[in-house]
Amino acid sequence: MKLSRQEKITYLQPSRTGQGLVAGFTTRNGGVSRAPYNSLNLGFNTADQQVHVDGNRSTFCRAFALPQNQLLTVRQVHGDDLLLIDEPNADLSHFLKVEADGVVTNQPGIMLGILVADCFPVLFWDADKRVIAAVHVGWRGAAAGILKKTVTAMTRHFGCAAGNIQAAVGPGIGAHRFEVDRPVRDAFRQGSGFWREISSEVSLGHWQVDLGLSCRLQLEGAGLDPGRIEAASECTCCHQELFFSHRRDQGVTGRQLGFVLLK
Ligand SMILES: [Zn+2]
Repeated sequence: MKLSRQEKITYLQPSRTGQGLVAGFTTRNGGVSRAPYNSLNLGFNTADQQVHVDGNRSTFCRAFALPQNQLLTVRQVHGDDLLLIDEPNADLSHFLKVEADGVVTNQPGIMLGILVADCFPVLFWDADKRVIAAVHVGWRGAAAGILKKTVTAMTRHFGCAAGNIQAAVGPGIGAHRFEVDRPVRDAFRQGSGFWREISSEVSLGHWQVDLGLSCRLQLEGAGLDPGRIEAASECTCCHQELFFSHRRDQGVTGRQLGFVLLK
């Protein structure tokens, strides 16, 4: 992925998006929020001033020539529910109140957005079937297998073939900064997040966990071609100049956006 710029918005752009698709992961730069939300905080679920977040969302939409009511973000709750949209919606702002952690659609003109600060935003697209998805993957979502669930929704509900789906895993927290304890281990053991492959015990009852690797393994396990999976290499926690990080900033920080749109 490379850093690209669209007007005031700097973002990581997957290399194989091609024509007919807009996709990427915003950095924290180019907005109006003040510290510690400086500056492109796009999340309403922070203590930042709403007028600043509104302004930042306007800046984002203007850069991509998108009507602001066609930016769809949901109320992310670290669950594994997906919102499927298969008909046009004149105004998407009411979805702000809908609890979900992933959105799938075949509708052009809707910008799907996932807000994160250390969790992994994962984008999907099938250029043949013209279907896209955006998913929020924290440890709970990873343990619950939300990415596999997304691929299943794309294949069963929208007729995609898993082998044709492209995926981009955005920047999230690296394993070297993501240490967890027993409740997280237990959730993974009961779920399907590849615990053995992604964890290493650093002291009794404490593990470092590679959520990015969990994402990749889940995508491959769901039938995606490894050559069609791209992942950002930047760790949000280590790149203060580029990204908000919940862990680094002890919970008081902004949110960056993973976004995908069918033209
Ligand atoms: Zn790091």
